Amino acid sequence: MALSGLKTLLEEARRQNRAVGAFNVASAEMILGCVEAAEETSAPIILQAAEARLSAVPLEVLGPAMLGAARAARVPVAVQLDHGKTEKVIRMALDMGFTSVMFDGSDLPMEENIAMTRYFADMAHARGACAEGEIGSLGAGEGGEKGAPACTDPEEAALFAARTGVDALAVAIGNAHGIYAGAPDFRFDILAGITARCGVPLVLHGGTGAGEERFRRCIRGGIRKINIATAVFMADAKARAAVGGADYFAMSRAAREAVRRTAEDHIRVFGIGKEC
Ligand SMILES: [Zn+2]
Repeated sequence: MALSGLKTLLEEARRQNRAVGAFNVASAEMILGCVEAAEETSAPIILQAAEARLSAVPLEVLGPAMLGAARAARVPVAVQLDHGKTEKVIRMALDMGFTSVMFDGSDLPMEENIAMTRYFADMAHARGACAEGEIGSLGAGEGGEKGAPACTDPEEAALFAARTGVDALAVAIGNAHGIYAGAPDFRFDILAGITARCGVPLVLHGGTGAGEERFRRCIRGGIRKINIATAVFMADAKARAAVGGADYFAMSRAAREAVRRTAEDHIRVFGIGKEC
């Protein structure tokens, strides 16, 4: 029974100066590959599903599989709704037993984002779950929808965290969802400003392709949760394509193993602790 709360995992990561890998999943192979990577490295992880991706597998089907894998894992596993947008889906995740939900109001005016995030954070806390909020804009949503990027303002982040009561705060410091066209320019000065003003553990979305050095600097700068979605999806898709043919189970095995390797590579970088 290793289903764990988000806050506990992030507080432990803070004490050990590392970050927890949060892996987005959309199939049984991805779920199992990520949990195997966590067990192999004896590290806690977070399994996530983003609302925008539920068109592939609905939460009613994917959620119980995530929770089942977490409960059976030999390491602590938190299960989170990523980029929750609607009350219906956020409520469904909490009803199911997800240990945290993210409400993404980053495209709303500040006051509206605060009010909505507070509403969902209170809802999560009343059920014994945790909540993540987001302030600033990554420029593109988890489902690929476009917007204008804008770095998080440190003063606003402190205000947002205090007024919403979130347990984790996603920030925009030059990170982006999807694939980086070139080397990303992370604003570590802004990250330092946020960390200095904000007591809440910080989250880096758009971890895929950021690279080892940036991950280490982010962790030194106060990032405690790093979201990896695209790398997981690509590992699965490429492994299936490489097998080819018509043997579904050979593809499934290859996909699970490729996801395990990808997740493990990230966990080892995020979990190096004192060397950071
Ligand atoms: Zn994200």
